[in-house]
Amino acid sequence: MLTHNLGYPRIGSQRELKKASEKYWSGQLALPELQATARRIAQHNWQLQQEAGLDLIPCNDFSYYDQVLDTSLMVGAIPKRYTPVLSENPQNTALDLYFAMARGYQRNGLDITAMEMTKWFDTNYHYLVPEFTADQEFRLFSEHIFEQFIHARNTLENTPKPVLLGPVSYLLLGKEKEEGFHRIDLLKRLLPVYVEVLTRLHQYGATWVQLDEPYLALDLTPAEKDAYLFAYAKLARSCPGIKLLVATYFEGLRDNAALAVSLPISALHLDLVRAPEQLTSVLGLVPQWLSLSLGVVDGRNVWKNDYQASLALIEQAVAALGTERVLVAPSCSLLHSPCDLDLETNDATLTPEIKNWLAFAKQKLREVGELRQIADHGALDLLHQNQQALDSRRKSERIHRTHIKERTAAVTEADARRRSPFAVRQARQQAQLQLPLFPTTTIGSFPQTEDIRQLRARFKKGELTAAQYTEALQHATVEVIRWQEEVGLDVLVHGEFERNDMVEYFGELLDGFAFTKNGWVQSYGSRCVKPPILYGDIHRPTDMTVAWSTFAQALTQQYVKGMLTGPVTILQWSFVRDDQPLATTALQIALAIREEVLALEKAGIQLIQIDEPAIREGLPLRHSDWPAYLAWAVRAFRVAASGVRDETQIHTHMCYSEFNEILPAIAELDADVITMETSRSQMELLAAFADFQYPNQIGPGVYDIHSPRVPSTAEMVALLEKAQTLLPAENLWVNPDCGLKTRKWPETEAALRNMVQAARHVRAKG
Ligand code: GLN
Ligand code: ZN
Repeated sequence: MLTHNLGYPRIGSQRELKKASEKYWSGQLALPELQATARRIAQHNWQLQQEAGLDLIPCNDFSYYDQVLDTSLMVGAIPKRYTPVLSENPQNTALDLYFAMARGYQRNGLDITAMEMTKWFDTNYHYLVPEFTADQEFRLFSEHIFEQFIHARNTLENTPKPVLLGPVSYLLLGKEKEEGFHRIDLLKRLLPVYVEVLTRLHQYGATWVQLDEPYLALDLTPAEKDAYLFAYAKLARSCPGIKLLVATYFEGLRDNAALAVSLPISALHLDLVRAPEQLTSVLGLVPQWLSLSLGVVDGRNVWKNDYQASLALIEQAVAALGTERVLVAPSCSLLHSPCDLDLETNDATLTPEIKNWLAFAKQKLREVGELRQIADHGALDLLHQNQQALDSRRKSERIHRTHIKERTAAVTEADARRRSPFAVRQARQQAQLQLPLFPTTTIGSFPQTEDIRQLRARFKKGELTAAQYTEALQHATVEVIRWQEEVGLDVLVHGEFERNDMVEYFGELLDGFAFTKNGWVQSYGSRCVKPPILYGDIHRPTDMTVAWSTFAQALTQQYVKGMLTGPVTILQWSFVRDDQPLATTALQIALAIREEVLALEKAGIQLIQIDEPAIREGLPLRHSDWPAYLAWAVRAFRVAASGVRDETQIHTHMCYSEFNEILPAIAELDADVITMETSRSQMELLAAFADFQYPNQIGPGVYDIHSPRVPSTAEMVALLEKAQTLLPAENLWVNPDCGLKTRKWPETEAALRNMVQAARHVRAKG
């Protein structure tokens, strides 16, 4: 039985790559030093995996920015607008071209936009979307993969296993930049480059090559299925000396199982964490030549593996195939795991008890090795140790709180329904709030300036007392209230200066969350996130936002919106428990948020926003799973929102605006007002809401907050006029696309002044 790994985090356990790249971009670090850092990280990762006893260690899983962008460079899919990057400055290297594609290029009069970025399947990792034209050509452009292989080969005892994104998934991840063709039609032109890469890897001594084909676990059209057959027949025929391992993950193969096992490859990797049930059906289909790689250690979450459960799967496969045809591995690349639990030395945030339930990337390697030891040699002490840790988690009173389980089980349909239908609420709210037509507001946060961040850092270091910290934040809040009054916004916000992050802030105040010091995971490029660990039944011991909202409200005659993060978003952006259904966890968070909503209402806050930017991204990968997900996600939101009186106005906010397919679910949220991102698509989305006859109020974003550009009054008037042709004026709000925390003050000020003017203009005309 072989053990292997699909990929290892490349940011470095101390985020070395982030720090080095950012210095390189700002001109403070020379290229050779950046390259040295990259080599050190890759080498360190290989050594770790060798020490863990893995047989097949991945290489080329290291990336300076993103593995999809690496593939675009490898196959020479470089959009024409980047041509000047190399000619403009003879000093620019292929790596500068690469970073220009990732981040845009603004130098010496050139202003080239970056490639589009989007989420990698259902993870929080973002990749750069390949761009294809009808006359797209491919050629081997980058030597990165060969350099990686040779470096790994010279470092490791065993022959390393290069990892590549498979040709079909690569094409499907991209986008057509012109009409008249489908990107899958480019396969014939793409394959020769893959053949060349495999051939050269073979010449350098590679035996196994891993091709990632996550699309095999998604809904496929007949043409896409044919593409798989065609591609792998060609690769197998052209490179007979290479053993191909095709990796699928994030879902089960389901109806694609027969297709996947029929490919002429040596091994197929299955995600048995997401879909353990697929093992039985795949074993029933697997042909003689095919080995199976069992992804039994969760690459996407932080919990210790359940050895007993994994061993049952391994034994089932071994009984059917024999040990020679079974490989053991994590479920997917460990890119999505934090690096090393051993670095968590602060008992105050991560107690030894909780630590004993966890495994990060380095620990997961050890788990893979131990599973083989137990399977091969019956190392029972390892099994017992594992069972003890799992037992302690199963029984811990830190996790299980009877009163919460009872409350969650007792949620009724009435708890998930506002008292009156929207039309009644709208009239009552209007009578109470007396807002003008086209009320203006913002999404919540105002610029988190260097000063604000410094305050937080100094408070965390103990250089400021809690009282000093609070006083300074209050000062910022007073200023932002005065400022909003002066600019003439109708519904104000307190600015969210007290929040480091919209999920972590609530996690820190709720029981049931733990935090790491170093549990960073790459989000995109040099950006990393540190998701909280949601380990236990969720309990709200204290008010979380009431003090800030009432402080702000007391400063002004105008309404100040309360500001909360919704249950689905808190769930999506945390490492969540795997010992109960997501729906149950979501409902527990919903009940905590509901209590906060009621506390805000009781304190006199009349408009309350519950942000749910992550509802859209939580959609399952297979369409047939959408209804079940949407049912519990919508219910969680409604439970959070529905405790209040008719007069209290519930807002929600969402970005990433591709909602067209889930409009019924958005309507079912029954928020009184939804604000969302629409400006970049010129209100395209609003037409869908109009077609659907969306009944409640909407604040379509009138300006893009992702860029410092200040929009003119005229262009926002134009957008609002467009909105009025689609929806009744009394249902429209005026606001930016999203929160303003990443912006600077000067542009924020100018943009919001123009926005208020635009609202006044359409109001006067109306
Ligand atoms: N209220 C949050 C803010 O303004 C919303 C952030 C988000 O949608 N991602 O920052
Ligand atoms: Zn947003």
